[in-house]
Amino acid sequence: MNPVDKPGKTGSLMAVEVAMARLLEMAEASPIRERERLPLAQVQGRVLADDLVSTLDLPPWPNSAMDGYALRMADWTGEPLTVSQKIFAGKAPDPLKPGTCARIFTGAPVPAGADCVEMQENAEVLVDERVRFTETLSPGQNIRPKGQETTVGELILSAGTRLGPIEQGLAASLGCAELDVIRKVRVAVLSTGDELIEPGQTLGSGQIYNSNRVLLCSWLERMGCEVIDAGILPDDLATTRARLGELKDVDLILSTGGVSVGEADFLGIALREEGELTLWKLAIKPGKPLTFGHFRGVPVIGLPGNPASTLVTFALLARPYLLRRQGVKEVEPLKFQVQAGFSWLKAGNRREYLRGRLENGRAVIYKNQSSGVLRSAAWADGLVEVLEGRTLAEGDGVSFIPLSELLS
Ligand code: AMP
Ligand code: MG
Repeated sequence: MNPVDKPGKTGSLMAVEVAMARLLEMAEASPIRERERLPLAQVQGRVLADDLVSTLDLPPWPNSAMDGYALRMADWTGEPLTVSQKIFAGKAPDPLKPGTCARIFTGAPVPAGADCVEMQENAEVLVDERVRFTETLSPGQNIRPKGQETTVGELILSAGTRLGPIEQGLAASLGCAELDVIRKVRVAVLSTGDELIEPGQTLGSGQIYNSNRVLLCSWLERMGCEVIDAGILPDDLATTRARLGELKDVDLILSTGGVSVGEADFLGIALREEGELTLWKLAIKPGKPLTFGHFRGVPVIGLPGNPASTLVTFALLARPYLLRRQGVKEVEPLKFQVQAGFSWLKAGNRREYLRGRLENGRAVIYKNQSSGVLRSAAWADGLVEVLEGRTLAEGDGVSFIPLSELLS
């Protein structure tokens, strides 16, 4: 590690991993425990409430991995064998008649008495319909043994697992028609700023369209949250207080904007008055200011308003917080080392998350990394992490965090 590369050494700024640890601690202090039972087809993105333990051996019986012939090896002396039965998948076979073989298809139960399956490509059917095998046989070949995938009583998925197509498939293979999952996290999304109007309206002078609202609402929906769209909050204390007060039945108020230095910070004032406020200056770029607190007992996360800052802080901090509230253990984003396809000459005192993509196995970055430029993220397929105090030459190793994983 480069000597200036020490995580946590960020002057007066809070290191990303410290903020993350604190957020996760707070998430664990208010876990969501209520559960609901859902049909298997509806559990996508949800969190498993109980351990899933197998009540089956899977497969329940030895079955054929090939289309071919089942036989007892000891019966194969070089003399062709008669086919005594045909076993399709879904059928119950008779025990294998000694001195014969059985025609068998993939997934069909191997008959009692057979100890190997030879694939049809290595079998020759003679004119009298007897079968000769052309290759050496070995015991157990092409047989999937009983319990190969799982045996009764085995832990298959732990409570706290996030469910997606693969877990749904696995649960289905064990015969589960329904699963108990943690109820949806209820998240209220607030956009703050007098300059914001919604798409579809005509822009007046000084106004911009609200992009954070739809970005966060649809991201939260993909994550399996219940989204309460709390609209746009003007930069005004009385309205802020009133609007926050209306959101008492949610698990989290997630706001954007209004947390930059020097701004009339109405969210902060309201939290200080009627709850508590922690304003962190994080060693992260984009996304330095992040507010965490409570308003009348309801947790509030205030993300910085610049669209790329909103995206990065949501992905790296708010998302893990929301998952941990539901009991998910693995909340850290997947990260892997790649070679930098760019150079980075000026070491910063904040950890940078550059919007980048992989080209020929190397990370390259969007030409404009301004926190106001959301196009950078649309162009990108990941975040390139450059640690604080670090410079890079082309070919140096950097961490790459794929966005695809974070977006669900
Ligand atoms: P703030 O954190 O409120 O100082 O906002 C920082 C920058 O992000 C300003 O340029 C805002 O206009 C912009 N911004 C804040 N909220 C949004 C939003 N919901 N959609 C698009 N841009 C925003
Ligand atoms: Mg603002």
